[in-house]
Amino acid sequence: AKAQGGGSIRFFNPIMHETISRRMLIESALRRAVQHQELEAYLQPQVNEHGEVIAAELLLRWTDPDLGTICPAEFIPIAEASGLIIPIGTWVIEQACRTLRDWQQIDALKHIPLAVNISPRQFRHGGFVAQVEHCLLEAHLPEGLLELEITEGMLIDNIDVTVKRMCKLGDLGVRFSLDDFGTGYASLAYLKKLPLYQLKIDQSFVRDMLTDANDEVITKTIIGLAENLNFSVIAEGVETVKQLEHLKALGCKKFQGYLFGKPAPIVEWQQRFIE
Ligand code: C2E
Ligand code: CA
Ligand code: CA
Ligand code: CA
Repeated sequence: AKAQGGGSIRFFNPIMHETISRRMLIESALRRAVQHQELEAYLQPQVNEHGEVIAAELLLRWTDPDLGTICPAEFIPIAEASGLIIPIGTWVIEQACRTLRDWQQIDALKHIPLAVNISPRQFRHGGFVAQVEHCLLEAHLPEGLLELEITEGMLIDNIDVTVKRMCKLGDLGVRFSLDDFGTGYASLAYLKKLPLYQLKIDQSFVRDMLTDANDEVITKTIIGLAENLNFSVIAEGVETVKQLEHLKALGCKKFQGYLFGKPAPIVEWQQRFIE
């Protein structure tokens, strides 16, 4: 409640109040988790048309001692809004580069790229390019192994600055995937301008492709678009053999989803991969 003039006016109804408190609770718990390095990095495989693992995506996991497990869909937006995404994003990139460095000692893993998700605020942050460069140099990585997954949202506000940054990172051997493609504001005009390596078909299209003709058409269109623009294309959220077969029939050659493996802690993922 806030006081205004003489009378007291309640701005928040109890339900709003509850969600705001949870946000604040999560924010302070997250701050603590960042300080104590309590976030965990999980990996999920990406496979080719033969089911062979060709890359992995790093996904954050967080279990708070009091609040329990909180999913990224809930804490990432709070991290974005509060600025905590900067230290979190730094940790994620360091973690990815360290993992890739370790993989350079393992024949089976040394050519496997690792993708990390980058939030708009993190990408816009002034020190971002220098930070990625620092991590890459420190880990002595060959080119093309660190992949950044960005979303359409970060492309809209300042396309020229974005392209410049992407090119700088591209020169350092970083590859870019456009995540959740088809759900945002992507204009086809700027797709060509971007130094992209890959489009990721959003999982909502994959999920409904077999029952909704619109989603099938969109999926097909994205695959064709990628082909024409010389981008690689990967479908995410593949859960069933039926979806896989259909995506293959549409010309898709890379896949990610529970059908091939759920996200798992790095060490566990590596063991499973080597076996
Ligand atoms: P995303 O980047 O689109 O990641 C894909 C999400 O789909 C992940 O959820 C993954 O666990 C889930 N997934 C994978 N395969 C399947 C499947 O077959 N079926 C279904 N239903 N889901 C599947 P997760 O890990 O909960 O992450 C949610 C979102 O949180 C991510 O969406 C990403 O936007 C964000 N996120 C996660 N980790 C990071 C991070 O390190 N940094 C940033 N900035 N964002 C992150
Ligand atoms: Ca992603
Ligand atoms: Ca995605
Ligand atoms: Ca998503």
